[in-house]
Amino acid sequence: KPRVFSGVQPTGNLHLGNYLGAIRNWVKLQHDHECIYCVVDLHAITVWQDPADLTRAIREVAASLIAAGIDPTTSILFNQSKVSAHAETAWIFNCVARMGWLNRMTQFKEKAGKDRENASVGLFAYPNLMAADILAYKATHVPVGEDQKQHLELARDIAQKFNHDFGVEHFPAPDPLILGEATRVMSLRDGTKKMSKSDPSDQSRINLTDSPDDIEQKIRRAKTDPLPLPETVEEVAARPEAANLMTIYAALADESLADVVAAFAGKQFSDFKRALTERAVSVLSPITGEMRRLVADPGYVDGVLRQGGERAAAIAAPILAETKRIVGFL
Ligand code: ATP
Ligand code: MG
Repeated sequence: KPRVFSGVQPTGNLHLGNYLGAIRNWVKLQHDHECIYCVVDLHAITVWQDPADLTRAIREVAASLIAAGIDPTTSILFNQSKVSAHAETAWIFNCVARMGWLNRMTQFKEKAGKDRENASVGLFAYPNLMAADILAYKATHVPVGEDQKQHLELARDIAQKFNHDFGVEHFPAPDPLILGEATRVMSLRDGTKKMSKSDPSDQSRINLTDSPDDIEQKIRRAKTDPLPLPETVEEVAARPEAANLMTIYAALADESLADVVAAFAGKQFSDFKRALTERAVSVLSPITGEMRRLVADPGYVDGVLRQGGERAAAIAAPILAETKRIVGFL
């Protein structure tokens, strides 16, 4: 079976973009792949996290993944800091990757903002740790949203440079799997900005923990243009807010965007938003309910993460030993 690795940061609650762009695909891949899914807490601390909030978020994100359909008895589910191979491999990659490569990463520019001198070194080196996450298991398939494509290309470059520098065929070049209709869900407040956990406005996203009332209210207030719904797929492309909401609808309903355009052509946003709310609530509320049930018993979630960490460490150990031998460590 091909080996899949992917991760999600415990920087807050999972949102609809995480679900449609990543998690839903993680669930589907479990049937015919060996899957390793990771709550990437080392990545989370590249920006400040209150320790108590971080602990809670690790448990909640893990519970949301299980609630969304990740089966921890077949797939491996753990939090990153439990397996030191991630950090150890990342250090070696810090010495393989070039400053110029990382200088081109758009996520760093977006997250560091204007005050780049004050960003953590970890935020800059983040893509090296991400390459280590994947390659520490020699994973070949990485299901992610569109926003992670550039980081995956960097992981391929690191694998290639390592192999070339040391004259080995050690690391496979990992392939991104960017699947589904909604690979880049946009903010509900701004159709040109990605929906993110770390966006300060809660109105910008639908969280997996939102109640049906929250979802209804956020969709009702979501930014739109003043026109009726577009009548062709070409017209959708020119209207970012309409495009975002219609793409979300298509993904939730498992329909193509063309079908959604045909169904709502020329209708009013108020009607469409009601239909969208119904879809969103019916997909998300079972997950929310199950997640709440799971976090009520942190012993269960902690046990899943502990066992997952042990299984992950067992896969990573011989690969790390070989990596160290290749580098020349005694
Ligand atoms: P943060 O703002 O802290 O970076 P995030 O919302 O970007 O959080 P991540 O944990 O960085 O979430 O990403 C987890 C997964 O979700 C990744 O595979 C990423 O590509 C995907 N993802 C994140 N945001 C979106 C989005 N708006 N649309 C589709 N996929 C997304
Ligand atoms: Mg992100």
